[in-house]
Amino acid sequence: MKILAVSDRIDPRVYSDFCQERFKDVECVISCGDLPEHYLDFIVTNLNVPLFFVHGNHDPSGGKRILAGGTNLDEKVITYQGIIIAGLEGSYWYNGGIHQYTEREMYFKYLRLLPSLRWCKIRYGRFLDILVTHAPPQGVHEGSDLAHRGFSTFTHIIKKYQPRYHLHGHVHIYDHNQSREDQLFNTRVVNCYNYCIIEIDPSELSPKTRVAL
Ligand SMILES: [Zn+2]
Repeated sequence: MKILAVSDRIDPRVYSDFCQERFKDVECVISCGDLPEHYLDFIVTNLNVPLFFVHGNHDPSGGKRILAGGTNLDEKVITYQGIIIAGLEGSYWYNGGIHQYTEREMYFKYLRLLPSLRWCKIRYGRFLDILVTHAPPQGVHEGSDLAHRGFSTFTHIIKKYQPRYHLHGHVHIYDHNQSREDQLFNTRVVNCYNYCIIEIDPSELSPKTRVAL
């Protein structure tokens, strides 16, 4: 399955007349946050595929706001085309704004995923395929300031549940030397700033344990 992942910045290659042609084989869109609704609406209208998203710290309103008819992944575990996806919104707490969390608060948000993750393990033989967050995990792609600190909760999830991917945003990429993709334990951690294409083949998942399509 080909996924268009977007985050943080409106990319002119996506927000263009060629969007439909350029991304015609994309089967779903994942937003890692800090993007305006009109942009996400433009993408899903052009591609006519589902949107799954988490909010970033610059998204305008709190609560469980729905964007562009998409599914808010925060504190949720869903399956789509045989792939298990879970989400946790927001950034590290730095000035008391919306969608900001302390490490302890993020840990409690993660605990709310646990029953669903455990159910996936029983039902499908594995906990999780894609973790979607706005902020990075601790130790990979994180910034040196408080606002861009990575959550150790995410590192814990990666270590314990070994998702195939962790998709995040929040950390802007300003030069080509800045790493977009790195390995952490068995997980590929991808900074989706601007956009990137993720390909994940459900048939590559263990045949005994793959999600029924
Ligand atoms: Zn952000």
